[in-house]
Amino acid sequence: MNEALPSTMTAAVYQNRGEPLTLEQRPVPKPGPHQLLVRVRAVGICGSDIHASDADWTPTGIIMGHEFAGEVVALGPDVKGWTIGDRVLPMPTLSCGTCPACLAEDFPRCTAQQTLDYNPAYGGAYAEYTVVGAHDSLPLPKAVDFDAAAAVEPLAVGYDAVRRAQLRPDDRALIIGAGPIGLTIAQWCRHFGLADVVVSEPNAARRALVESLGATATIDPHEVDDVAGAFTESAGAPASLIFEAVGAPGMIQHCVAMAADASRIVVVGVCMATDSFEPMMAIQKRLQLQFTLGYSLDDYRLILRLLGQGRIQALPLVSHRIDLSQLPERFEALRKPGDEIKVIVNP
Ligand SMILES: [Zn+2]
Ligand SMILES: [Zn+2]
Repeated sequence: MNEALPSTMTAAVYQNRGEPLTLEQRPVPKPGPHQLLVRVRAVGICGSDIHASDADWTPTGIIMGHEFAGEVVALGPDVKGWTIGDRVLPMPTLSCGTCPACLAEDFPRCTAQQTLDYNPAYGGAYAEYTVVGAHDSLPLPKAVDFDAAAAVEPLAVGYDAVRRAQLRPDDRALIIGAGPIGLTIAQWCRHFGLADVVVSEPNAARRALVESLGATATIDPHEVDDVAGAFTESAGAPASLIFEAVGAPGMIQHCVAMAADASRIVVVGVCMATDSFEPMMAIQKRLQLQFTLGYSLDDYRLILRLLGQGRIQALPLVSHRIDLSQLPERFEALRKPGDEIKVIVNP
């Protein structure tokens, strides 16, 4: 361990369901084999952390934060290819680095893989330092700054949604919700060349932002009774593909009810409550209902290349920047809808 490192750090710690995060002094973690110690430079506050802080399964005492980038400040044993001072974009996982799955970079199949956050044994990036997997991390190119790198994770979530949708060149996409994930899905649909990328979003600032990021039209669902009808009016035909990017109870049924016959619905919104929908309505329409989760190191690699080329954008997603001391208060404020898109913490 580098002797210049402090022995303790500030971390924002989850306590109990519905309670604010608290700032605590924690020991700076020590990197194990195939692990790096990272000084966190930017971490995004994720809506799924806010949902999880109100769920009964979240372990107390954990440090959340999975959308982040930083600098390598110490190397664990057996680390190859990394140097102290490297800028790094880690995935929020720790893989063993030695099993056949890891050697093939198929990290989700590593049976020893753990998550950093939601794991009392490790910790996420709502802290000054965190340990990350040397194999689950990429060097961050100079062209991509730390704040943009912190938005790679939501871009990867949107990319995975578009991949699982098995996008066709003539698809007409309707995206429900222009939160961080809806914003990235709109960018990907545009990037892959769809003629109609229509976003339904009640917040005017978010509608303006998603139009600047590639939406071909937007709908205010508070002004329009029939979102599907408004889509057809705009695109000339019904949506062939609907992305649900809100993640609240009732949204799946909302999409089933508005979907055209034989169309596809991709559920990206993370709803952590019990929900219901009418299967018969989906059956009669022969809908395809697809759920998504997961991205790979290769996805991160691709996104970094496209960011470096200026062909997709991360920084417009960043609406606010705060320091770690402001995190607990802002985290509470985000429970209610506001003007925030992505709040980046610079610890
Ligand atoms: Zn997230
Ligand atoms: Zn492994």
